[in-house]
Amino acid sequence: MDPNIYPEPTVCPYAKCGGQRFHLRQEVRKPVRDTVYWELTARRYDCLRCSRTFRVYPVGINNDQTSARLRGLAVLFYIMGLSYGAVSLVMTALGHPLGKTAAYEAVQATGQKVAGLRRERGASVDRAHAGGSLGADLTSVSYV
Ligand SMILES: [Zn+2]
Repeated sequence: MDPNIYPEPTVCPYAKCGGQRFHLRQEVRKPVRDTVYWELTARRYDCLRCSRTFRVYPVGINNDQTSARLRGLAVLFYIMGLSYGAVSLVMTALGHPLGKTAAYEAVQATGQKVAGLRRERGASVDRAHAGGSLGADLTSVSYV
């Protein structure tokens, strides 16, 4: 993610408009979920054809303001063998709360782009749940 690089709008995002000329109306500060940046600026444009407004986010940001880097970290933990619930716990412990569903969606989205994305079987931290140690204190998890 680079908060200073914005994709140039080329066509109006609203269906059936097709407008290609826009006016940059204002820049809006938005909180962002990322490991480095806490805030970014979204650009708000007016379509000169239909007069509706839309926002453009910097490259690497999706609609729920979670950066590609943060989603990538969740995917990495998943590939390392963590369950979606455990990915969510680790991300929260690192100071970047990401829900179980968001972790699942990040993995699914990446899996569609990277053919053959799989993790090794049998390396799941889920086993730690059996010992009852995972939950409040991630440092108490023992990796056997
Ligand atoms: Zn339009």
